Amino acid sequence: VSAVLAIDVGGTSIKAASVDRTGALLRRTERHTPVADGPDAVVTAVRSVAADFAADGIAAAAAVVPGAVDAAAGVARYAANLGWRDVPLRELLGSELAVPVALGHDVRDAARAEAVLGRARGTENVLVVVIGTGIAGLIRSGGHTVRGARDLAGEIGHMAVWPDGERCACGQLGCLETYASGAAIARRYRHLGGAGGALDAREIAARQSGDALAARVWTEAVDALGIALAAYTMLLDPEAIVLGGGLSEAGETLLAPVRTALERRLTWRPPPTVHVSPLGARAGLLGAAMLAWEQIGGADFESWQPPAEQR
Ligand SMILES: [Zn+2]
Repeated sequence: VSAVLAIDVGGTSIKAASVDRTGALLRRTERHTPVADGPDAVVTAVRSVAADFAADGIAAAAAVVPGAVDAAAGVARYAANLGWRDVPLRELLGSELAVPVALGHDVRDAARAEAVLGRARGTENVLVVVIGTGIAGLIRSGGHTVRGARDLAGEIGHMAVWPDGERCACGQLGCLETYASGAAIARRYRHLGGAGGALDAREIAARQSGDALAARVWTEAVDALGIALAAYTMLLDPEAIVLGGGLSEAGETLLAPVRTALERRLTWRPPPTVHVSPLGARAGLLGAAMLAWEQIGGADFESWQPPAEQR
């Protein structure tokens, strides 16, 4: 057994890599997600990405996808960004590769990779928040990962930060994710009349000094994060909060105002430290690699080194 295949299906790109038992990424590919061509085209694209690795001696595979995922059934139930409903992805990839295949959730499995490999490693009381197209977290408290009664602990993206706020895709009002995900920042800037066409969140952050709307959208995102992280801090008293996912690649542009927003809301107690992850957008791929290796054993995740130089 030399390697597994990890696939991270996002609304923007499909990333894939073969990953050996030490966590090293052997070969990586990335292609545009053909969302405009419809849901079937996206499925076909994922299958062809997988088929491209079929000759690499793959022993198992896993794909992580956004939205509602039924991991036990191997079915992507609903992904608004991909147009997917009830896609039996585990079965489709299994027939493509003829190896065991697992299905996971992009943000939650990315958060797990952050907890094992990233800045949260070895920390007993920590919150990992992955900010990508959506927002979700992983809670570690007293050295244990908190999963909850329905395996839904850590869904901080759907914490209502402004009770009368904008409606979230989930149906609730004022969710953190509606203001602070990478997709939300881009969407709000565009809908509120932002200049410059379709800018992404980091481009919007970079425009703040000369663009009042960019500054407003970014500040509201950061404030929303501050509110949610302060609430989390009151409940679970973490020593550290780690921000990961694509938006964390904004680095200090994100970190400095989030620290300030959090500290402003914690008047009487010391704030937890806040860091950005060294894994960035690769966390989803590494989370998928863990899922893939778990099916066949033989990989000790605790010994994996964060591949910082491969960013
Ligand atoms: Zn929501």
